Amino acid sequence: MVPVKIIDLSRLDKSSSGLTGSFMDWSKFPREDVRCKLCGASKAETLSIQRSWPVSRCKKCGFIYLSSRPVESALEEMYNKEYYDSADVGYGGYADNFIKYNSIFTELFNRRAENIEPFRGQSRLLEVGCAHGFLLDHLRKRQWKVKGLEVSPLAAKYAKEELNLDVFCGKLENALYKTNSFDVVLLLDVLEHLHRPFETLKEIGRILTSDGVLVVQCPWELTHWEEIAEARLKKMKPCTITPDAIPAHLYFFGPDTLEAFLQKGGFSTFKKQSGNYGAIRRHIKPVPINVGPFYEKFFRFVYFKAGLQKLVYALAKTFGKGNGLIRYARYKK
Ligand SMILES: [Zn+2]
Repeated sequence: MVPVKIIDLSRLDKSSSGLTGSFMDWSKFPREDVRCKLCGASKAETLSIQRSWPVSRCKKCGFIYLSSRPVESALEEMYNKEYYDSADVGYGGYADNFIKYNSIFTELFNRRAENIEPFRGQSRLLEVGCAHGFLLDHLRKRQWKVKGLEVSPLAAKYAKEELNLDVFCGKLENALYKTNSFDVVLLLDVLEHLHRPFETLKEIGRILTSDGVLVVQCPWELTHWEEIAEARLKKMKPCTITPDAIPAHLYFFGPDTLEAFLQKGGFSTFKKQSGNYGAIRRHIKPVPINVGPFYEKFFRFVYFKAGLQKLVYALAKTFGKGNGLIRYARYKK
């Protein structure tokens, strides 16, 4: 469903990406008010308003989510049309960037392939939200029997016609995959977009074999140390900076809330990994250095230009503090 499929990769949907494409008025969608998806509580504290959408923290469990969000049909319409062209919420120029930065993608895909190798079973793999199918194409070359699912007709068409992949265009519940028919299901940068995430997780549980593995990846947003530091630097309260892809992202996970979410969906996590988003974006659009007051310029120079960020990211990944959350989980049948 969503763009960038690999950790370390590129948050091409980051609002500051500066990619080519159209900008639209994200405040116009019909909206609905919702309770906390994790614990069901209705009381939430509004942390900030982003593009007219309230980013709120549940007063009971601490989960951060859009307490007022676009209705499901409105976002679906966006994924059908503008999402793949949009520079500020979707991923403008994704296919072009894949070709241009192919060596970086290949490195990331290789790492992904190595990570899932132990769970190969009979090599049957489904990627839910496969976008243009680049990762599936890569895994197919490594003898995986791959299938994909993608809600965007544009991306699904590319996967089918250009890459000759077996891709279903539509929702998971309509694909009617057989029970126990996959050894691995990939759900990369998708969970934070789903209006009915637990229905999707239940369906994934049904189609996975009894020892099949779900790989979930999503960004660690707002409570990540780097974003807290950014807020401090801008003299803002923690968790109030602009998160990614509002209003396409409905939830803002941290390590604990992601695992609680999976648990609620019937999955138990058995392996954790940490990754860093942004490798490709840094190539496409380097962070501007000469902006803001002197101390900010100085910080930007030391952090982005002099290599401090690279060092910090490597350390963060080692200690499980990277801005990408990756979880391997099995369904409790
Ligand atoms: Zn809650």
